[in-house]
Amino acid sequence: MKLYFEAERFLKDGGKFGGSLKSRIFSDTKLKNSPKHIFALVCSTIKYYDFIHQIVQKSKIKQELKQKKVKVSDELLALIIHDLLFSSRGRIESGKHPIKDAILGCKTRLQAEFIKLKLRYKVTSVCQLPVNEDTNDDETPVRWFRINTIKVDQERFFKKHKFFTDLQPVNRIEELIKPGLVFSDDYIPNLYGVHPREKLSSTDAYKLGEIIIQDRASCFPAHILNEDNQYVHKQVIDACAAPGNKTTHAASHLPLDDASAVVYAIERDAKRVGVLRTMCEKATGKNKKKLIQVIHKDFTTIQPEDFSDVTGLIVDPSCSGSGIFGRAMDNALNGEKKRKKEEEEEEEEKSNEPHIDQERLRKLASFQNVIMKHALSFPGAQRVVYSTCSIHAEENERVVIDLLSDPEVREQGWTLARRQEVLPTWPRRGFESEFIRISRDEKVCKELADGCVRAKPKEDGGIGFFAACFVKRGKLMVDEEKSTEDISEEQNEWLGFED
Ligand code: SAM
Repeated sequence: MKLYFEAERFLKDGGKFGGSLKSRIFSDTKLKNSPKHIFALVCSTIKYYDFIHQIVQKSKIKQELKQKKVKVSDELLALIIHDLLFSSRGRIESGKHPIKDAILGCKTRLQAEFIKLKLRYKVTSVCQLPVNEDTNDDETPVRWFRINTIKVDQERFFKKHKFFTDLQPVNRIEELIKPGLVFSDDYIPNLYGVHPREKLSSTDAYKLGEIIIQDRASCFPAHILNEDNQYVHKQVIDACAAPGNKTTHAASHLPLDDASAVVYAIERDAKRVGVLRTMCEKATGKNKKKLIQVIHKDFTTIQPEDFSDVTGLIVDPSCSGSGIFGRAMDNALNGEKKRKKEEEEEEEEKSNEPHIDQERLRKLASFQNVIMKHALSFPGAQRVVYSTCSIHAEENERVVIDLLSDPEVREQGWTLARRQEVLPTWPRRGFESEFIRISRDEKVCKELADGCVRAKPKEDGGIGFFAACFVKRGKLMVDEEKSTEDISEEQNEWLGFED
């Protein structure tokens, strides 16, 4: 039964802690069962979740378990029923447990509903059931890794690690059709793409912390923060840091020989702060231990005045994670809620749009706005990068719009960095139509949208992502020769505001 309890956790967390299902399972060092086994079980349960749900409903097993005073979550029940009816073995894992006994007590009823289900779908075996194969599609099209330049520079890296020197270069990510090939990224220095089956985690470079496996789009924020190469940040805050991908990337941009250089990595979750510490220690090693300072706190309780030397911030707050694939369990489990909202569902079908829980998005956006406003209040801050792994405008362009329209934010001199300062050659930009909320001038909408970067899940070689950068015009190098008044006028004009 331990297998089911461990798998239950991954079905329950619904991806809210970030990362794909596969990476979450395979990076969990505390698992007692084989990650491979758990991954297969969770994927298959997700695949057949709709059918399992029908059997649960029709057999009234939940009511029976309640009568027997046996408490079992929907996720655990689905996993066990999966093994009993949908797996090739057709039995529950060995070992005694009252939950197992109680479910086996309903076995005849469950099997009867299973037979009726097959008749309804006119199939004779499980594999003929009409499943959406997409729900099992957890794989990234490209596995990205970056050389951790805190520990080793590019030249030394390739001299040291034959495995990587032996990879055959290709010119486009589409050519990464098998292991043994490597693509050097055009946008992020020291970033490379390989075939997803390339065994990066068994290389010495990985074990030594000399490469970091990180999706390409997830490398955008630290790169954007440092894109104005006339400006070198010595002190940076990563406001929502765990597990620490962006933290360690931001640290690699600091002047490494300057003893005062530091990234303050802030994380409020007690469990995740441990993961963050481990990742930062591995990335910096003993020599550069002071380069990252982990702070276990809620970012909004940090006093900005205590960090007056901080000039750059990365804000990558919790989000819906809708850009991450391997969120199939989210969709599968939300299905239950969906069924209760038949009207909504009909509307969705008509508009062909995926189901979005508007209330959840509203709450997330409001939290993202609070975190960003706090970041923009740091007295020395010159550049603040906002990012999410969501594809929804509510958490992206609309958060940017609300901040740009906020009198306090405008008073502080913040505006949106333009395209030439934010990955200018990356083709996919923000949604222009969203900026109609802020200006009726098409040119302004285009310029604002161009200031934002988007990545489409899979199509752009990895997760779905959004990033935008706020710059303090009055003080920033680019506009140094202009007075604050000029700048605020220019900004208002740009945004289409009237003073
Ligand atoms: N930037 C991270 C990376 O690239 O590895 C991923 C960050 S994840 C999307 C968001 C993180 O923010 C979660 O670990 C969450 O616990 C943390 N978080 C949420 N609200 C926070 C707050 N108010 N203060 C600090 N951390 C917060």
